[in-house]
Amino acid sequence: MGAMQRESRKVSRRRFLKEATGAVGAASALTILKPRWVRGAEKEFGVVVLLGPPGAGKSEQSRRLTARHSIPIISTGDLLRDQVRRGTQLGLQADTYMKAGQLVPDSLMNPILEDRLSQPDCARGFILDGYPRTLAQAESLDALLKRKGLPPHIILLEVPTERLFKLLTGRRICPRCNRSYNIYFQPPQKENLCDADGTTLVQRPDDKEEVIRRRLDTYQRETQPAIEYYARQGRLVRVNGDQPPEKVAGEIESKLASQ
Ligand code: ADP
Repeated sequence: MGAMQRESRKVSRRRFLKEATGAVGAASALTILKPRWVRGAEKEFGVVVLLGPPGAGKSEQSRRLTARHSIPIISTGDLLRDQVRRGTQLGLQADTYMKAGQLVPDSLMNPILEDRLSQPDCARGFILDGYPRTLAQAESLDALLKRKGLPPHIILLEVPTERLFKLLTGRRICPRCNRSYNIYFQPPQKENLCDADGTTLVQRPDDKEEVIRRRLDTYQRETQPAIEYYARQGRLVRVNGDQPPEKVAGEIESKLASQ
């Protein structure tokens, strides 16, 4: 990435903060209202938005980021699955879409997300995994983060489609601790058992082959416009997701540090 691109992203993040705070001079906004995570020694990253196709490793990278920077992971897939598990009205409605590999409508998704982001542990920032998934969601998120005065880092994990397919069909999850494995690329030490707690691994219903094709199509159709929206504004940070997880994490960290 060139120095100019980096500089232009810094400028767009500064502009975002300025608009968010309503301050006239950028300098005063930055000195007076700059949140602690931008300020100095104890550097935090605020909001990190992880974008990428299903199976690109967003959850794995979220876990690494949360361990390193102590901000919570907000996974919209997990928030929805939690509603389904608890059998709430929203969960029952969302379940139909999720089982079909379709996006849950914003009228269900956005209130669940807003509610979660208003909790105290999100005040210093958070990692967003699985949101935004559409252009409309990207715009809602910008409005929401402007209200909170938290300019996001937008990271896109890029992985070729043919590899994604194997990544998704091979994915197995621990239903207890949510850790994920892959029978082709990242198998557990003992077949089909979680390394951390020995629980039998499961395949998510939406990781079945025909559902996967639909999810990848949905990504192309719905999420690509959100990615282009960020790219047009010079806010998109591209990371090669087709390398070992620790390498991906390293690339994310160095790009975040240079923003
Ligand atoms: P993956 O990252 O593997 O695609 P997720 O766990 O993020 O899976 O999401 C599972 C399902 O939850 C999606 O297929 C979709 O139905 C629903 N979902 C998750 N996030 C969103 C969102 N931002 N908007 C609408 N639906 C969502």
